[in-house]
Amino acid sequence: MYHILNNLLIPASCALCDSTAITDVDLCTDCLDMLPPNDRCCNACAQPLPIDETSILCGDCIGRKTRFARAIVPYLYRPPIDYMVKRLKFSGDLKFSRIVGQLLNRAASQAPCPDALIPVPLHPNRYAERGFNQADLLARHLAKSLPIPVLRGAVSRLKDQPAQSKLTASQREKNLQGAFRANLSLTDKHIAIVDDVVTTGATARALAQQLRKAGAREISLWAVARTP
Ligand SMILES: [Zn+2]
Ligand SMILES: [Zn+2]
Repeated sequence: MYHILNNLLIPASCALCDSTAITDVDLCTDCLDMLPPNDRCCNACAQPLPIDETSILCGDCIGRKTRFARAIVPYLYRPPIDYMVKRLKFSGDLKFSRIVGQLLNRAASQAPCPDALIPVPLHPNRYAERGFNQADLLARHLAKSLPIPVLRGAVSRLKDQPAQSKLTASQREKNLQGAFRANLSLTDKHIAIVDDVVTTGATARALAQQLRKAGAREISLWAVARTP
């Protein structure tokens, strides 16, 4: 009881500097302003665009037959966002899973609401190793304020892949063929794929391909950060 009252009466403090936090994110105004925005980016995949680029799509997306309806990826994967995401991803730190979820929630609340969220699944071996799926933690956080379900188990990850970060974009695409399988019909649904970080977008695209096969009408990509 004391704990509940305490939470109601004392404003949360900033997770980075201990000043008083704003209401919807556990960060103070100064720390929030320090986060690196990804505001000049491709509308479909969130790849940062050159400042003088006038198109709303990147060269990759213009050439694609299918692409995401929209990408909500509000920050660049740079300090201090990278620190927060690592705390979420590698230690499942609840404090930071909450903040990363709050940041994504802020950005996603401006976008059209999808019918359901699908977190990028981990392969069962990875899940057993880590004990949690960071994308799932974020989706659960989003579902607290959005009136839509998280379709856990809607997609299986069939291939246990080593870290992809050292591979080229085309090697990634090749590696991801047959990596996912949809387990239920998504006919006419608008789905938002939820992940922590988007690197090349290859994983989300491979997943989206299976969701389209399962009938999804529209697919959005929601993540907190994009690698520059
Ligand atoms: Zn602060
Ligand atoms: Zn793009």
